[in-house]
Amino acid sequence: MGKNVLIVEDSAMMRKIIIKELTNAGHTIVGEACDGAEAIEMYKSLKPDVVTMDITMRGMDGFTAAQEILAIDPDAQILILSNLNEEKYRDRAVSLGVIGLVNKHKSNEILDLLN
Ligand SMILES: [Mg+2]
Repeated sequence: MGKNVLIVEDSAMMRKIIIKELTNAGHTIVGEACDGAEAIEMYKSLKPDVVTMDITMRGMDGFTAAQEILAIDPDAQILILSNLNEEKYRDRAVSLGVIGLVNKHKSNEILDLLN
């Protein structure tokens, strides 16, 4: 069944790609945030089923935003989408309690984790 997804990603082009892949797979994009602070505000107002979270963004990064969202809602489902060198972030992602960390270009793996 499709999920209501909040996309957090500072690159407009990457947002477009992720949105297309997720909507094609039957998910609904309920919001798009460009940085961590916006992500937290949108999470509180939209209560999405899942958040896809970029790591590197201006202002508050994705790990900090994920941590704050999980402090507000320990049941939050957050999927960290990395770019390069994702392995170095894996321990940090696991310790935060997110549902996973996937390279943002591997759409099949993203979709697997959303189901
Ligand atoms: Mg980024």
